[in-house]
Amino acid sequence: MARPATEELRRRNRAALLEQLHRHGPQTRAELTEALGLNRSTIGGLAADLSESGHLQETTGRSTGSAGRPSTLVECVAKSVSVAAVELRFDRVRFALTGLGGEVLDRGELPLEASAGADAAAAATASLLDGAEVAEAVAAVPGLVSGGVVGHSSELGWDGTDLGAALAEATGRKWRVTDAATAGAVGEWSRGDAGEARNLMYLHGGRGLTAGIAVEGRARPGSSIQLGHIVVEPGGRECRCGMRGCLEAEMGAFGFTEAIETTTVAADLGDTKAREALRRSGQYLGRALGAVVTAVGPDEILFGGWLRELYLSSAAAVRSALAETTLPQLRSGLRLRTPALGAEGPLIGAAETGFEAIIDEMR
Ligand SMILES: [Zn+2]
Repeated sequence: MARPATEELRRRNRAALLEQLHRHGPQTRAELTEALGLNRSTIGGLAADLSESGHLQETTGRSTGSAGRPSTLVECVAKSVSVAAVELRFDRVRFALTGLGGEVLDRGELPLEASAGADAAAAATASLLDGAEVAEAVAAVPGLVSGGVVGHSSELGWDGTDLGAALAEATGRKWRVTDAATAGAVGEWSRGDAGEARNLMYLHGGRGLTAGIAVEGRARPGSSIQLGHIVVEPGGRECRCGMRGCLEAEMGAFGFTEAIETTTVAADLGDTKAREALRRSGQYLGRALGAVVTAVGPDEILFGGWLRELYLSSAAAVRSALAETTLPQLRSGLRLRTPALGAEGPLIGAAETGFEAIIDEMR
């Protein structure tokens, strides 16, 4: 029998091997040996363990070298472990059933009525899940989330809403509840093209505005940043939260969610009112980001949701407002851009949050 220390090491290595294949896709044993810094026979033993448990399989894959001899690839068995993910928006629940390795096995969507509560969202989720057996289930909600409770969501109009309890009641299983912005950051880091970012910030633009952070690809503990309620105009317009001059109120985020496309098209056609609205909104956004960048010091910011369109049409205003409100040292290495996964980041990130928990559990 193996000594406990040896068994512990083997378990850690097994988790590392599975994580490597889940994130990076099929690889040869030689590639795995190099990526994980383990020797060939160790990789062979770990792969055999994980094949026996049904997580991995070996297939004849791509040709390598001048001889063109096909090499054996090690890959995840998608259906061996699956995660259910939902993303709540003001008008719908989006669902994805994702297998090990990131393959989407099933997806769906149901409408959500205006001012729907947690029970309606949970019922829609149960219907989309349709009794599927999953190892983890994760819900991404735009707003302030702690435990299973949504403290505040401008998008859903929720305050102190226990979504975790409603989901458990409707589906008979435990759900992790995360905020959509943080899920967006995790999704872009693991499946988008932001895997190099150490401190990645994802801005989620819906009916409310939030920002989430992934540090080395992992959700930063604590709540998301309530970007929409940073005061950018003291004594300004009244916000739905009760304060005045919040970014959400000054930008008219509620209206922009539906009107961003028509506004950007009008601006492109030379409509001066539309141009001015975009410029001012870009300026306010840059000002709010100045406070966030000063506090958090991200190395990359992704403009998600409708903020993508706003950023593309007002990047100069965003950058100059940011320049007025942050230290040059904090701006020098900062990259601003749009997310590679488009609108899919939060849903993909919710699934990845589930896989992270599964792989952590194996260590
Ligand atoms: Zn507010």
